Amino acid sequence: MTRAADRIFENAEVHSLGESDEIHEAVAVRDGRIVRVGSDYEVEFLRGVDTDVVDCDGNVLLPGFIDAHTHLEILGRRLVRADLDTGTRTAALDRLHEAADGDDAWVLGYGYDESDWDDGRLLQRAELDSVSTDRPVVAFREDLHTASANSVVFERYGDELPEAGVERTDGEPTGVVREAAAERLRRETAPDRAETRQLVTAARDDAHERGVTGVHEMVRASEAPAVYRTMARDGELGLRVRLYYWADHLDAVEETGLVADCGSDLVEVGGIKAYADGSLGARTARLSEPYADADGRGEWLTDPERLRELAARVDDLGLQFAVHAIGDEAVGAVLSALPDDSDRRHRIEHAELLPGAAADFDAVASMQPNFLRWARAGGLYAARLGAERAATVDRFADLLAAGVPVAFGSDCMPLDPLYGVEQAVTAPEDSQRLTVTEALRAYTTGAAYAGHDEDRLGTIEVGKRADLVLLEESPWAVDDDAIADIDVTMTVVDGDVVYRP
Ligand SMILES: [Zn+2]
Repeated sequence: MTRAADRIFENAEVHSLGESDEIHEAVAVRDGRIVRVGSDYEVEFLRGVDTDVVDCDGNVLLPGFIDAHTHLEILGRRLVRADLDTGTRTAALDRLHEAADGDDAWVLGYGYDESDWDDGRLLQRAELDSVSTDRPVVAFREDLHTASANSVVFERYGDELPEAGVERTDGEPTGVVREAAAERLRRETAPDRAETRQLVTAARDDAHERGVTGVHEMVRASEAPAVYRTMARDGELGLRVRLYYWADHLDAVEETGLVADCGSDLVEVGGIKAYADGSLGARTARLSEPYADADGRGEWLTDPERLRELAARVDDLGLQFAVHAIGDEAVGAVLSALPDDSDRRHRIEHAELLPGAAADFDAVASMQPNFLRWARAGGLYAARLGAERAATVDRFADLLAAGVPVAFGSDCMPLDPLYGVEQAVTAPEDSQRLTVTEALRAYTTGAAYAGHDEDRLGTIEVGKRADLVLLEESPWAVDDDAIADIDVTMTVVDGDVVYRP
């Protein structure tokens, strides 16, 4: 006789997002795995005296979302510290003033995006001096490639900031710092382990609220990996975390013998992350043709020769290489740096501008549909690239048509898969719009594939881990521009309900 299920989710509209698009009513779970999917009647047979039965109220049950590109510690800082993702410059400065009321040694804000503001200008030193003249104040831009600092920061750290990253007018710092200089400030303000746990917990809760059951987490000089492992050990994580260590940890990763796809059910090693170039916002993404609104074609943060060496080494060590590349020249350099015939599923993060045909994209495309918000008419990308080139970003449909594996992630800008799905199905270029099913698959099976996890995650099928999300409305039934407004009514990891409002 078949053992009873631990939990049954019934009275749902179950979309497995697997090969078949058949719709079911119920899912039974035992020991954290899916043991039956079918009609309420079929699944009812697994009901025993101790089986917990969850009535899904006719809501839509999907595989849990896997966000293929996150920085949860950074998201946690926005949730716990000053969140500068505001519609106006004044509101962002108000938040910094509020943060200055506390007694922390630093006044820190995260996630500002001046392209949302009327004047489109980065925060300046004088404005941050108005927040404090005796404590260091740093406002990090959303992409973290750029930050703005007050005079105290330049007095204390001016000598240590790489000069190339310090913007000046008439010899004086404007307050804006970029790339290595911004990274120096990020490290200086890095939280210790206890604080990291607080930040990561806040971000984890936020992820659950958005239906996210797994993340591919990019980490650098952070306490977060240790925190994920201790939380998992203590049974307090409730989220699958696949770790990508920054290339500057490569020696340590090699010495300590970390290889891909190893770890626990919840925390595993993925591979190594590197930056080929910067961002379009900061005009540091490496382009083949100059920017439309400035001289220059962007920067190499890792040059093509070094990318090639790194790729070979990462591949030899049995790790997956995940390379940030946004500009077409950077994407081309990464494609040619990746070893041929590797089964590691090396990936390009962002891949916003392709150097040529989608069919030549011989890697996993780990992309952020939420970035399309900057690609809309009159937006940041049109300013940086000109309208014609801006229309060629994020070629999701071309990549899928060419058979390229596409994984969706958010880069935490914001972490919100349904917002990303809405952006992908309403893409400004008609030809690149995805169907709801395609967009959801990129956030489930696509991301699972990118993490070598398709055998245990990504669909609602017997044998898979019971990672699920329940939506109050069907993304197939609402208007395309209302998908982001759909509420998550339950999130389930390993059969356990980790979120229910
Ligand atoms: Zn990122």
